[in-house]
Amino acid sequence: MSYVHDTIVQLQKSSPAQTEFYQAAEEVLDSLRPLLELNPRYHQHKIIERIVEPERQILFRVCWVDDRGEVQVNKGYRIQFNSALGPYKGGLRFHRSVNASVIKFLGFEQIFKNALTGLPIGGGKGGSNFDPKGKSDAEIMRFCQAFMTELHRHIGPTTDVPAGDIGVGGREIGYLYGQYKRLTTRHEGVLTGKGLDWGGSLGRKEATGYGAVYFAQNMLKSLGEDIDGKTCLVSGAGNVAIYTIEKLYQLGGLPITCSDSQGAVYHPQGINLDTLKLIKETRRSSLREYVEHHPEATYVDVESYPEDGHAVWRYKAHLAFPSATQNELTEADALALLGNGVFCISEGSNMASTASAVDQILQAGIAYGPGKAANAGGVATSQLEMAQNSSMQQWTIEKVDKKLMSIMHDIHHRCASTAEEFDQPHNLVLGANIAGFRKVADAMIDQGVY
Ligand code: GLU
Repeated sequence: MSYVHDTIVQLQKSSPAQTEFYQAAEEVLDSLRPLLELNPRYHQHKIIERIVEPERQILFRVCWVDDRGEVQVNKGYRIQFNSALGPYKGGLRFHRSVNASVIKFLGFEQIFKNALTGLPIGGGKGGSNFDPKGKSDAEIMRFCQAFMTELHRHIGPTTDVPAGDIGVGGREIGYLYGQYKRLTTRHEGVLTGKGLDWGGSLGRKEATGYGAVYFAQNMLKSLGEDIDGKTCLVSGAGNVAIYTIEKLYQLGGLPITCSDSQGAVYHPQGINLDTLKLIKETRRSSLREYVEHHPEATYVDVESYPEDGHAVWRYKAHLAFPSATQNELTEADALALLGNGVFCISEGSNMASTASAVDQILQAGIAYGPGKAANAGGVATSQLEMAQNSSMQQWTIEKVDKKLMSIMHDIHHRCASTAEEFDQPHNLVLGANIAGFRKVADAMIDQGVY
């Protein structure tokens, strides 16, 4: 049997029940076939066996006291996956669905994403099964402090630099940073996504969404198209979705959907960005409220979603921006998108599409930017924040945005030219996986067996 099959079987034995991780690993390993055939040295150096095994995994208990005075216990994770290219870099996710498989798939994706940025950052990820929904601000603070009480001993500005992800935004980064500083007495770039007055970078909050749109712009350019006048489907209503929508409007697009865990909004006249920000950034409440402000929009409860997928992908449009979470785009969703005329998909979320959805999309030959390429603007701007911190500078928004644009252009070029090199010019999945892997694998070989 092939090395892909053998590796997955081996992983199933050594790391049982990590389905999301097997899915991420299989996709990458599959793409590598043509590269490995031409370059036996990767097998000789056992790079496949080494790269699927994290360098270090930290699993810890997080105990905190809720508002009723009751003790709560959660699991905390930090997976330091690969440091061949630089310090471990990647976000923290706080969500009830978090387990070892989810953090491991995210950490694995992060290795190749970070390599694609062209910046010196390794791959890591962390988080907790803590559910921020319905928690008071004081509970969020106590949880973040408890989480950092353990995490602080494992991180540092030149070793491992966490950031946000689902459930971790500016507020949480503030509480985490405050606790790090209290415990270590050091004011340093140990987290990214910090507040603008205490070491944060202008443009970091917007970067993932803006970057996913810039990536789509690059894909469209190679088709002789652009964003202007295009109807767009967006899923999610968090940081990535909000700033995807903002950038789409700036470039003349018309985003007509968004969603949260309870339902989806369809607003054919265009999602109202102020209302969305008010509901999600200010009130931190449910999208259900949206239709009270805009009675012409439709709210679809999650109970009424199609059985085989999600409501947002079932509308007529030109472009799609999955910006919610992993496996949010199923095979049936992919077929619906293709049937409705969507010809470009740019993933703001990590591993947005199921394996069979990806197969359908690639078979159809439309422009498709997988998350590890299309959403890399977030982590790339985190690295710009690290650069500003270590040189004690703060750059202007113009400088950061210009760099973000050129980084997204370069990532697209790296993926497209690698896909071309391997005779599959439209397959950016293959291009992204090979380009990211090759960089990391070569660095691992240069640095000797470890
Ligand atoms: N969580 C984001 C990602 O998936 C950002 C990570 C970071 O900024 O370190 O890439």
